[in-house]
Amino acid sequence: MWFNFHTHSTYCDGKSNLQQLIAEAEKLNLISLGFSSHAPLPFESKWCMKKEILGSYLNEIRHLKKNTTQLQLYAGLEVDYIPYFINPKDFSSQLDYTIGSVHFVEKFSDGRGWEIDGTHSFFLEGLEQIFKKNFRKACERYFELTREMVKTSAPDVVGHLDKIKMQNIANIFFHETDSWYVDQLDLTLAAIKKAGSIVEVNTRGVYQKKTSTTYPSPWILEKIIKKKIPVTVSSDAHHTSDLINHFSKTLTGLKQMGFNELFVLYDQKWQPFAFDENGIKDI
Ligand SMILES: [Zn+2]
Ligand SMILES: [Zn+2]
Repeated sequence: MWFNFHTHSTYCDGKSNLQQLIAEAEKLNLISLGFSSHAPLPFESKWCMKKEILGSYLNEIRHLKKNTTQLQLYAGLEVDYIPYFINPKDFSSQLDYTIGSVHFVEKFSDGRGWEIDGTHSFFLEGLEQIFKKNFRKACERYFELTREMVKTSAPDVVGHLDKIKMQNIANIFFHETDSWYVDQLDLTLAAIKKAGSIVEVNTRGVYQKKTSTTYPSPWILEKIIKKKIPVTVSSDAHHTSDLINHFSKTLTGLKQMGFNELFVLYDQKWQPFAFDENGIKDI
């Protein structure tokens, strides 16, 4: 039995509408499906939801919940963390759950936000202008923001924890074994553990062929097992065809690593379930 709580739709930059996502989820026998469009940002952005349609998004999900019987539906948002601008707490009272993600690390002198998951050339532009080409500084700020987010407005799920690694093509900036990088992860996992958030194992980088491993990387997942931090698996789908993309392989890997359970939002609460390569069992 499958599930996915990180899905984008035509309400933001996703390519499928909510009904198409539901139809695909029913075809694949999902037990729970969460919608997590990018929350409206307080400035222009081409990938987030427009503020004016948040109401219709929530209304449509409410309506769809009434007409969907087997599959459980949940209303969520992937909310950015930008100090003094936006954080997961701003939206949590209207939702079933929140995913908290850091996409922006500082801004350009002209006020434009610097997204770390845009094109590589845009990444290089910000790295040069904002951080004087010092990747380590930029990366440390990225994880510092993640820690700030979980400390001040812990989301239910921390989104793509080490997404900044997608820019580290052929290790041009660092190796994941570098002690400063490992230190950042240790500090960040400690903060997540304290906050009680779930970490998602996000397959998008793998099926998009932007990274060779999930967000977070397997060595970080091994630390997560030791720390007993709860995990869920998600695909960050922007299209129905990605709804459970790379799930089977990922679950096999998690099992081999020693994970015994995955957290799934089911019957209105996040609960641990045993799993194998075909999804969760004993439901
Ligand atoms: Zn994201
Ligand atoms: Zn996303």
